[in-house]
Amino acid sequence: MGIATHPFDALMDITARPKTVFVKGEGSWLWDDTGKRYLDFIQGWAVNCLGHSPDVVADALAAQARLLLSPSPAFYNAPSLKLANALVEHSCFDQVFFANSGAEANEGAIKLARKYGALHRNGAYEIITFEGGFHGRTLATMSASGKKAFEPLFEPKVPGFRKALLNDLASVRRLINSKTVAVMLEPIQGEAGVWPATDQFLSELRALTKEHGLLLIVDEIQTGMGRTGKLFHYEHADIEPDIMTLGKGIGGGVPLAALLATEHASCFEHGDQGGTFNGNPLMCAAGLAVLESIAAPAFLKAAVDAGLFLESELQRLSARHGLGEVRGRGLLLALDLKLPMGASILAQAFEAGVLLNSPQPDALRFMPALNVTRDEIGAMIDCLDAILTKVGAARRVA
Ligand SMILES: *Cc1c(COP(=O)(O)O)cnc(C)c1O
Repeated sequence: MGIATHPFDALMDITARPKTVFVKGEGSWLWDDTGKRYLDFIQGWAVNCLGHSPDVVADALAAQARLLLSPSPAFYNAPSLKLANALVEHSCFDQVFFANSGAEANEGAIKLARKYGALHRNGAYEIITFEGGFHGRTLATMSASGKKAFEPLFEPKVPGFRKALLNDLASVRRLINSKTVAVMLEPIQGEAGVWPATDQFLSELRALTKEHGLLLIVDEIQTGMGRTGKLFHYEHADIEPDIMTLGKGIGGGVPLAALLATEHASCFEHGDQGGTFNGNPLMCAAGLAVLESIAAPAFLKAAVDAGLFLESELQRLSARHGLGEVRGRGLLLALDLKLPMGASILAQAFEAGVLLNSPQPDALRFMPALNVTRDEIGAMIDCLDAILTKVGAARRVA
């Protein structure tokens, strides 16, 4: 017999969580086991791009579940072929490897870059990444991340990652040496608090990496799949990276991720890469349903409109309550609170039935479903407005 005395205690306590159990989701709404309803602007951490349990994903899963679950990664299956071909068709990349999580896709990107270095760059293996960057929680992806809190953890780190400063091309140039093989970044640093690379920086980075024969790797696990108003964020900067990773939104709520590479960079040989569930037909069937929905032109146009509306509403709120800037693009936005009151606002919003995220103590991040409605945005803004009014009144009294 185990020792758990409360149902929550049987799970490893890896983060602070409200003692609430969620049992049902639909679109922008979640229900807990007491029947309380929440308006969700977290959406599984920018995962549920079509909202909670969308019919297209549920139907694709149900149909595929009856047909074929796992033929083994040693054989081809139809959904993974269809999804790989659809991704290639909609991007600048030529080949795809499917993974089960963003971190695993990034591990694959790091391995692919090292393989490329071994084959084409005299064994070069260093990858330039960025302060503030987040690439996942495996040992290599934590080492690639530039998150301060990771620094003392799980030493020794995987070697070969040097950190530059976002939007500072000279800081990248200074780190390039004969051991460098790639530059890897998030087009918008999500976990750090929604800090965008400028389009100009991305374009200059592409030119710099080309000039030195380096691979450019974009981690679009958070920014990809329509999140910033284009199918992939790199399109905003009109560049073609060599490698891209996708996760989160690509499965619309199921664990699916992908590593994409151009023909030139796609250099794995037999035995270099694999995994039991990679390209699993069940997950790929969900991914295909998601991609087909998002790639429809009217869908992205509506998502762009929703993003602009949310941005303008947040700006209005900021002006009204004397807060800071609104950052980000599309439906990945942050509101600078100027003060470390994120946690307190989150808790009050949770009470009021609105789920918000605070990636940094002085910022709120908004990552609703891409098909969020104006009414839902309005309801979230009204709730936040009421909380900020209360917080402001408390501050004036204090
Ligand atoms: C979430 C995230 C990851 C990690 O993905 P997991 O599926 O949690 O492993 C990596 N990079 C970025 C930019 C992310 O937002």
